[in-house]
Amino acid sequence: MIDLHTHSTASDGTLSPSELVSSAAMAGVNTLALTDHDCVGGIKEAQQAAKHNNIRLIPGVELSVMWSGRTLHLVGLNINVDNQALRLALKETLSFRRWRAEEIARKLEASGVENALGGAQSVAKTELIGRSHFAHYLVEQGHARNNRQVFKRFMVKGKPGHVGGEWMPLESGINLIHQAGGVAVLAHPARYNLSRTKLRGLLKEFKGLGADGIEVVSGSHSKDENQTMAQHALDFELPASQGSDYHGPEKPWVQLGKLPPMHYRCTPIWEAGLKLS
Ligand code: AMP
Ligand code: MN
Ligand code: MN
Ligand code: MN
Repeated sequence: MIDLHTHSTASDGTLSPSELVSSAAMAGVNTLALTDHDCVGGIKEAQQAAKHNNIRLIPGVELSVMWSGRTLHLVGLNINVDNQALRLALKETLSFRRWRAEEIARKLEASGVENALGGAQSVAKTELIGRSHFAHYLVEQGHARNNRQVFKRFMVKGKPGHVGGEWMPLESGINLIHQAGGVAVLAHPARYNLSRTKLRGLLKEFKGLGADGIEVVSGSHSKDENQTMAQHALDFELPASQGSDYHGPEKPWVQLGKLPPMHYRCTPIWEAGLKLS
């Protein structure tokens, strides 16, 4: 069982890195990548836990990047977490997140949410604040029934708590992952609301930039989307990755390692001759 996309409390997951690793082991996962948003702070703990639980831990990250005015996510697998260029870039991203959190809080407060920054900060386990931390606090405060509803009402484009991304460009993200010795994978390509033409334009450019693969099977894709992404991977001759995008037990419909089978014609990224161990 291989799961190459998961989150811990180092970003917006709800299990600590060691809890995540032991849950994965319990679920029968033997290769697990920890890919926190813009952060590698959980990797050391996860590596320790992986030794105890006898599973293979692939150090990873999920970078937020900009492409054509939108935010995309890039999974970096098998990165050297001590790489200086990566460290520096993540520090810069953390500063943007800090600034963005203050902006989001200011806007939410203007629309009647009290103590939004303090609330999100108390949900977050580290200094990295994401929109999910705000969402959790808003649900707690009764502004919405669940996270999904918070996003829909407050956190997306055109809504009162939305602040646009100012992440690094896609090309820089790919280069950074390569500099850190990793492989660069486009995360959940079906989640960006891109038309077929626009997505294929992205994949062409992505491949041209030397990127390594796309997530074909994702916990955030429907089964139909998995099949469509498999076709794109085949058309663009891009190796295919798979990951649950697990954030914790609060979303019981997403389980560690539990993924539908990848299309038989796809080349799994772990068999593509790419350095993954
Ligand atoms: P951020 O990187 O802080 O902008 O937050 C992005 C994260 O928010 C994603 O990785 C998801 O965990 C979460 N998220 C994004 N959109 C939604 C949504 N519509 N419903 C629930 N969670 C979402
Ligand atoms: Mn997330
Ligand atoms: Mn993502
Ligand atoms: Mn993710």
